[in-house]
Amino acid sequence: MTAISSTSTFAFGQTSAFTGSSLPLMQTYSPLTVSFVRGKGTRVWDQQGIEYLDAVAGIAVTNIGHSHPRITQVIQEQADLLMHTSNHYSITWQHELAERLTQLTGMQRVFFGNSGSEANEAAFKLARRYAQHKGVLTPKVVVMENAFHGRSLAMISASDSPSVRNGFGPLINDFVRIPFGDLDALDAVTQRYGDQIVALLIEPIQGEAGVITPPVGYLTALRTHCTRNGWLLMLDEIQSGMGRTGAWFAYQHEGIQPDVVTIAKALANGLPIGACLAAGIAADLFTPGSHGSTFGGNPLVCRVGCAVLDVIEEEGLVLHAAQRGTQLKDRLENRLSHLLQVQAIRGHGLLLGIQLNKPCRSLMQRALDRHRLLINVTRENTIRLLPPLIISEAEVDTLADAIHDLISQEW
Ligand SMILES: *Cc1c(COP(=O)(O)O)cnc(C)c1O
Repeated sequence: MTAISSTSTFAFGQTSAFTGSSLPLMQTYSPLTVSFVRGKGTRVWDQQGIEYLDAVAGIAVTNIGHSHPRITQVIQEQADLLMHTSNHYSITWQHELAERLTQLTGMQRVFFGNSGSEANEAAFKLARRYAQHKGVLTPKVVVMENAFHGRSLAMISASDSPSVRNGFGPLINDFVRIPFGDLDALDAVTQRYGDQIVALLIEPIQGEAGVITPPVGYLTALRTHCTRNGWLLMLDEIQSGMGRTGAWFAYQHEGIQPDVVTIAKALANGLPIGACLAAGIAADLFTPGSHGSTFGGNPLVCRVGCAVLDVIEEEGLVLHAAQRGTQLKDRLENRLSHLLQVQAIRGHGLLLGIQLNKPCRSLMQRALDRHRLLINVTRENTIRLLPPLIISEAEVDTLADAIHDLISQEW
């Protein structure tokens, strides 16, 4: 168990040198200077009209590609009809989307918010309610080393990155942390906290951490362990879900059924939406007035969410992601594994990470300049590839060639 002080110090007055610092924006990001004005499918164009291949998809958001005609059409139609009423009135598109999502996931009920953090926050509040129901006064939720669950106060407490947590203490102290993929550590934490533990929250694949995949059978073992101990198994599928890994949801590779699943990012292909799905006892823990959201589940986003599901189904994108993912991983392994700079190639489907032996943030800019290519770098030394699920066979080859070129050169 790692102990990160919840009151760790923060150097006030430290300045950050980045290009946007003269803008009237809070300095929460340090963006590259390029600015995109248009997108179509797997491509985006910058202000100079230069075309780029997008292997980031807004970090697993625009899974069906930019400006998909079907999405553009339903946004226009629904904007013309009705964008917002209130959750105090019945919203048909919300019922429709909830129905479709419960069918796809095997879950029973859905709460709609506007982001991944909100979806996870709802999951955490379910864990608190569950604790109350069980009469546990100081509940604990097991989380993982290197986890990322969002930026709300509870979710930075659940997350395990100093940059996310530092300077925001005191944090929520419900969380106990164990190494990802380690069943002995799970047993140890179970012994130590016993009946205080009410839930376990985990990403089936840790995206921000560098696309870390657990050993085969790990999720199944977690399922068994949670059932045996009466904990809720809560899966954060915000990045790994919606077809990205070659299954609708990553947990489906192991055929398990969680108690709570959170979804966001790709659910409306770029419109803000988050969903917390629950089954069994967790499905009935919220009661009228106990949780809510002004924007959550509005007719516009929910209709777009339904259209996204239609497109993924009609275009066979889950299978396509599996096939293109296998192709991409094969190409990368063939071309890169002999390079000294490459320490590991990880992931499933179109969520892949290439861990290098030194910091490689600068490759994001170099990929733009040399290859007209968008890539992501996470945890300083891992290239993360999350192209739109519609990426073609030829584009996968182009992408692998470009990555090979980028890594083979000095940077
Ligand atoms: C992006 C992400 C979140 C946070 O989602 P937001 O919409 O930024 O709040 C949480 N968990 C995982 C695994 C994510 O990838």
